[in-house]
Amino acid sequence: MINTMDTTCLYCDEILFGRLGKKFCSPHCRSAYHYNENKHKKDKLYDLLIIISYKYAELFFISLRQKNQA
Ligand SMILES: [Zn+2]
Repeated sequence: MINTMDTTCLYCDEILFGRLGKKFCSPHCRSAYHYNENKHKKDKLYDLLIIISYKYAELFFISLRQKNQA
């Protein structure tokens, strides 16, 4: 039986031939894909840290203002 469903490389979208369940056309694409995934995760964590520090700065200035008013 011939599998007619095309699967493409998750990294470069090259059509994959060979065994089912293959996700990448080459070891290079596999490592490049995972490298980008990890980089993306780090970026998200960094964004979260920025948001948290802004929130803390906001709270800090609110409390300063309240002290000055009192
Ligand atoms: Zn590829």
